[in-house]
Amino acid sequence: MSDNSCIFCKIAAGSIPALRVFESPDAIAFLDIAPLAPGHTLLIPRQHFQSILDVPPDVLGRLSGHLPPLARAVMKVSGATGLNVLQNTGESSGQAVFHLHFHLIPRTEEDQLGFRWNAGTYGPGEDKAMQAGLLMALKAQ
Ligand code: 5GP
Ligand code: ZN
Repeated sequence: MSDNSCIFCKIAAGSIPALRVFESPDAIAFLDIAPLAPGHTLLIPRQHFQSILDVPPDVLGRLSGHLPPLARAVMKVSGATGLNVLQNTGESSGQAVFHLHFHLIPRTEEDQLGFRWNAGTYGPGEDKAMQAGLLMALKAQ
């Protein structure tokens, strides 16, 4: 399954170039063209899925199995002391390429990426209502 208009399908097929760092029968990883830090890498399945909303669990399981060795290599070669694994789902999350991908973003104490949680709080009872909603939504699947 591939999508003719999808840039990552074209990269997977080799019809547009990318600096590949990993290949397997089901997945490839390559350097992000606009890195947040040197070594910023993208891991994608060869098959076209938009995001974690439509990828079958077994495909996602195989794909995420490639994360540990890739993460170790990215950290080693970039000299990072930390790493963000990021998967954007939907435009409002910042997803720009609608072919499932994981970002591996090298981090250091000194970097200026500025990605820090801006944590909120629940009002009275809102957390329990959220828990009940999620339990029901999962049961319905
Ligand atoms: P998203 O915002 O969808 O989670 O991330 C898409 C990522 O793909 C961005 O970080 C962007 O720099 C990268 N990207 C977009 N087009 C290309 C391309 O043609 N080649 C490579 N190597 N990366 C790309
Ligand atoms: Zn695609």
